[in-house]
Amino acid sequence: MPDPFRRSTRIDAVELSEILKISELAEALKRVGRDIITLGTGEPDFPTPPHVIEAAHQAARRGETVYTLTAGTIELREAIADGCQRENGYRPEIGEIIVSTGAKQVLYNAFAATLDPGDEVLIVAPYWTSYPDIVTVCGGKPVVLPTTAETGFRITPDQLRAAIRPKTRWLLLNSPSNPSGSVYSETDFAALADVLRVAPQVGIMVDEIYQHISYVPFRSFRAVAPDLADHTLIVNGVSKSYAMTGWRIGWGIGPKRLASAMLAVQSQITSGASSVSQAAAAAALNGDQQMLAERADDFRERRDMLAAALNATGVLDCPSADGAFYLFPGCAAAFGRTTAQGRKIDNDADFCEVLLEEQGVALVPGRAFGTPGHVRLSYAYSRASLHEAATRIARFCASMT
Ligand code: PMP
Repeated sequence: MPDPFRRSTRIDAVELSEILKISELAEALKRVGRDIITLGTGEPDFPTPPHVIEAAHQAARRGETVYTLTAGTIELREAIADGCQRENGYRPEIGEIIVSTGAKQVLYNAFAATLDPGDEVLIVAPYWTSYPDIVTVCGGKPVVLPTTAETGFRITPDQLRAAIRPKTRWLLLNSPSNPSGSVYSETDFAALADVLRVAPQVGIMVDEIYQHISYVPFRSFRAVAPDLADHTLIVNGVSKSYAMTGWRIGWGIGPKRLASAMLAVQSQITSGASSVSQAAAAAALNGDQQMLAERADDFRERRDMLAAALNATGVLDCPSADGAFYLFPGCAAAFGRTTAQGRKIDNDADFCEVLLEEQGVALVPGRAFGTPGHVRLSYAYSRASLHEAATRIARFCASMT
C-alpha cells in the first residue's frame, strides 16, 4: 500500500543533521546520570536586553497583537535602514527590506522565490549546516566549494571563477562564518566582486548575521561593491547580535524585484513575522549599542582562552577565528590512534562520539559542515564550562596512543 505520508523526493534528500545525532547521544547520556558539557549549539549565552523585553510588553499592551505588513512594520524597517547607515555606511530603501521569521526564513524565501529545478547554488564549505538543505528543499542543487585553513576558510577569486557555470544562480557567502569564524576583508570582497561583475547570472547572497561578533573590522559586501547592489541580497537579523534567537526576527536587503518575489512566498507561508517580536527588534536596533562591543570583547576573551587550551593538546590544530563564536580545529592528528579505553579514532565523527562517551563533552563533527577532519566548538558558554571542557578534551587527547 502506498504510504500517504511518504516523503517527497525533495525532502527525502534532506539530511538528518549530525548536530541532532550528537545532541541525541548527549541527551541519552544525561538521562543515565552522566555529567555532560555541550559546546554544540549556536546561541549567545547572554540574556535579551531588558529594554527590548520592555518594548515587547508595551507593544502588546498597545494592541500591536495583530498582523503587520507582510514585509514588516515601517518602524522596524526604518530601524534596520538606520542601523545599516550607522554601521555599514549605506541606507537601503524601505522597499528593499523584508523582515522574516529569522534569517533562516530569508534564505528560504529567496531560494523558493528564484530557483527552478536544476539551478545551482555555490556554497562555501565549511558551511552552516542548513544552507544545502534549504537549497534542496527549494528544488535547487547545492554545489559545494571546499576551502581549507590555508586560505583562512575563505574562497579565492580563482576558485569562484572556475566554479561559475551557466546554471549557477547564486553564490552564498557567510561572513563572519559559522563554523569557521572566518571574516572576509574589504580586499577579499573586492576581489570576489571583480569576478562577479562578469557573471551577471549569479545572485550574491551574503549572510551577515554575525556582523557584531567580529574581532577584525567588519565590512558588508554591499558597502564594498555598491555597483552590484542590484544582484545582492544581504541577510541579517537580531538573533546573534542582540541575543534574541527565540524572537525569530531576521531580514533581507535586496533589490525590489527580488524583495517582491520573496514577499509573494512569505505572504503565502507565514504572512510575516510576529508583531511583538518586531517591536522588540526595533527597540534593539534603536537602543543602546554599547553592549555589542562589550559582548564581542567578552567572546574574544573566551575564544583566546579556549583556542590556547586546544592548541596545547598537541592533537587539535586550532587556527585563530576572527568572528562569530566558534572554533573549528583540525583533528586529523588523532586519526589512527586509540584512547585509553581502547576506542580507535578514524575520523571526525569518531572523535566526537568517543569524546562524548569517554569524557562527556559534546562537539559537532566537521562533516556536518561539509568539512571532515575538523570539529566545531561553540564558546558561547560560561568560562567555567569552557574551562572544564578544555580540561576534559586535554585529558582525552593525552590518553591517545
Ligand atoms: N545564518 C547562520 C550562519 C547561522 O549560524 C544561523 C543560526 N545558527 C542563522 C543564519 C539563523 O539565524 P536566525 O535565528 O535569525 O534564523
